[in-house]
Amino acid sequence: MTSSSSAPTARRLLIVGPPGAGKGTQAVRLAESLSIPAISTGDIFRANVAGETELGVLAKSYMDAGEYVPDSVTNDMVRSRLSEDDAKDGFLLDGYPRTLDQVEALDGTLAELGTALDAVLLLQVETDAVVSRLVERGRAEGRSDDTEATIRRRLEVYAEQTAPLIDVYENRGLVRRVDGMATIDEVTVSLQEALAER
Ligand code: AMP
Repeated sequence: MTSSSSAPTARRLLIVGPPGAGKGTQAVRLAESLSIPAISTGDIFRANVAGETELGVLAKSYMDAGEYVPDSVTNDMVRSRLSEDDAKDGFLLDGYPRTLDQVEALDGTLAELGTALDAVLLLQVETDAVVSRLVERGRAEGRSDDTEATIRRRLEVYAEQTAPLIDVYENRGLVRRVDGMATIDEVTVSLQEALAER
């Protein structure tokens, strides 16, 4: 409360949370309000699946099983996306990193680009609510990885491989927690408030 100069807004951001937490919806809204690109690895993979590219064919087999696409593939894809011009003054990564190997790769990519993360937004939700949200989305959007068996597997994979990342970023003092169980508009406001803190 002593600082009179306003801190620069955090613009190099991650949004983290289990499948169905609302990361994608919130990432688009937040990125728009900050005029930075929302970069969703899931969306990039889905675009490649739809375009039947070589990457898409590879990614689809993993996605449909609820497993992660191999780190090497994912890391290269994000490295090239973050090197694009529109990510120079900020970005909001949604769905990446998801493994400790990806954390290291992202550190390396950002170091190469001469930058670093400002904050990690953690969307906290209840598992039961998330499963019904995802079943609903599967019906509405026809996502082939939103079947009940795949959803359960994706939640397991998140708990095993992605939840540990939160500790890593916590130790760096970057994590800002937000309740993801409120309405979409309320969550957006909470995320903006979380970014304005400090
Ligand atoms: P999402 O839309 O973020 O839930 O991602 C959908 C699916 O894409 C995931 O279940 C994974 O199969 C794949 N995927 C997305 N991001 C990653 C990532 N960072 N690492 C590995 N696989 C990913």
